[in-house]
Amino acid sequence: MQVSLIRYTPEPELTVASAARLCYSQISATQLQEKLTPTQVESLLRRVISSGHHSVLEHASFTFAIDGISRACSHQLVRHRLASYSQQSQRYVSYKAPDFVTPPSVADDPELSRQFEQAVLAAFAQYRGLVEAGVPVEDARYLLPNATTTRLVMTMNARELMHTCSIRLCVRAQWEIREIFEAIKEEVKKVAPIIGGALQIKCIIHDYCDETESCGIRPLKDES
Ligand SMILES: Cc1cc2nc3c(=O)[nH]c(=O)nc-3n(C[C@H](O)[C@H](O)[C@H](O)COP(=O)(O)OP(=O)(O)OC[C@H]3O[C@@H](n4cnc5c(N)ncnc54)[C@H](O)[C@@H]3O)c2cc1C
Repeated sequence: MQVSLIRYTPEPELTVASAARLCYSQISATQLQEKLTPTQVESLLRRVISSGHHSVLEHASFTFAIDGISRACSHQLVRHRLASYSQQSQRYVSYKAPDFVTPPSVADDPELSRQFEQAVLAAFAQYRGLVEAGVPVEDARYLLPNATTTRLVMTMNARELMHTCSIRLCVRAQWEIREIFEAIKEEVKKVAPIIGGALQIKCIIHDYCDETESCGIRPLKDES
């Protein structure tokens, strides 16, 4: 899997801070952007994040190239509705060679790994057979497994990134989507350290676990 931040709102933290400051100011955001010091930007950002004034975080957007994830995982990812996606088409792009993700629970066992690979390769071979027999790629793909890799471009604003990280960094989320959001968090931290630092699991934000069983990072609500 490869997750790269390919574009983002220029000066994302200044953009958010000036929008936040504008709400309580007599001057325009244009002037505020020139006047705000880095210390003021940091303090404004920390205040909007802790106070829940999260709408201003929508002014900063981040675009990621996400490559080599499984179709099983991309299906989970695109359930997040407040984002924009462009995904490699299985109707128009045909797979010339097998390309798939093996879950660690399978990869860790040599025998299971062999069986898994055999089944996936057989599906890919049947797929190629159908394509070569003239079946449209869009129909042949019905044979492809959930493990088949895909690529996409995803744009999310900082508010939605906070939400998605809060649930997808949790151990309850599956390992592959968790890996995506761990990589996303690291990418955002490089260009927007305060926003990146706010991309946290929900239990760290609330200081308690709201699941039925705690993994140990924070205690259950009743036990905290
Ligand atoms: C551990 C885990 C297990 C899951 N298991 C399943 C499963 O078994 N089956 C399944 O179908 N899904 C499952 N999901 C997916 C889950 O149900 C959501 O579809 C997915 O997490 C998208 O999140 P969301 O709806 O909070 O927010 P997003 O789509 O990311 O939207 C962000 C927020 O915007 C608001 N919002 C967005 N759209 C609306 C709307 N139409 N109306 C009102 N408010 C809106 C909500 O506050 C929402 O939280 C699972 C998710 C996780 C993390």
